[in-house]
Amino acid sequence: MTDEGPIREAASMIGGAKKIVAFTGAGVSEESGIPTFRDPGGLWDRFDPNELGGGDIFSNLFAGAGTPSGSLEFMSEILSVLKEATPNPGHQALADLESMGFSISVITQNIDNLHREGGNSRVIEVHGNIFRLVCLNCGEKQMLAREELFRLGDELVGFLEAGDFESLIKLASRCGCGGICRPDVVGFGEPVQDMPQAIEEAKTCDLLLILGTSGAVYPAAYLPGHAKKAGAKIIEINATQCCFQEMADIRIIAKTGDALPLIVERVRELRRGIQQ
Ligand code: NAD
Repeated sequence: MTDEGPIREAASMIGGAKKIVAFTGAGVSEESGIPTFRDPGGLWDRFDPNELGGGDIFSNLFAGAGTPSGSLEFMSEILSVLKEATPNPGHQALADLESMGFSISVITQNIDNLHREGGNSRVIEVHGNIFRLVCLNCGEKQMLAREELFRLGDELVGFLEAGDFESLIKLASRCGCGGICRPDVVGFGEPVQDMPQAIEEAKTCDLLLILGTSGAVYPAAYLPGHAKKAGAKIIEINATQCCFQEMADIRIIAKTGDALPLIVERVRELRRGIQQ
């Protein structure tokens, strides 16, 4: 059961905020069935991040160098988890704040597109988005519909299983320039995306929500420091431990899918109270 005191305090802080930024991590999507990075039982407990988490997995694949062992199971598992994932009450609560008229942007480390699907319109994805492809030749990006990603993914896994490299290259050559496309996600060791925009958002908000992140991945984990330095208030919500607790004004140990809807409900009550 989530403690009512901090929920009310958080609601009142949100109610008075002029510009809110939500900085989110894998924990926010845990209740959508997507395993987090570091929690026990997660994907990376079973697969080696050094082998499978680097961006060079794609370049090697398309250069004909094959894939490291375990990569087929890894890709199949990610695809099947994403197929089932839909926005949870935590994503929806953030979208509710936007539809209630709050100025809110989301800076996410997640690649699962669930903040956009949930209804937030200002989303900065510093680690990319798996539903977007980028051309390795000209850099052009294209967003895929959900079904299209899964169809492509299943075909790709099928060609890899069959060792049909020619069909795989044909499948990946989807850009107008004839170039090969890869998922537009940031692998270990690759540069993050839209960081200047994310820093600007963090520096100009007056309230930062830190949600479901261990804060272990840099440079994204510098963002709360930028907000704090610029004078923003900070609310942190994490299911197990608050990782930015020294910076946070309010700390809530709870699942975001439990705490955020309660907070948004209290914000609604506060607004109704003011209007009466
Ligand atoms: P992390 O796995 O390092 O940390 C997750 C944090 O969320 C933990 O502190 C955990 O206590 C907390 N948590 C777990 N379930 C929660 C819940 N229901 N509500 C609130 N908190 C919860 O994740 P990270 O900090 O985002 O870093 C991992 C990196 O891996 C990210 O950069 C991201 O790109 C990538 N990743 C993305 C996804 C995704 O797109 N959904 C999933 C796994 C990993």
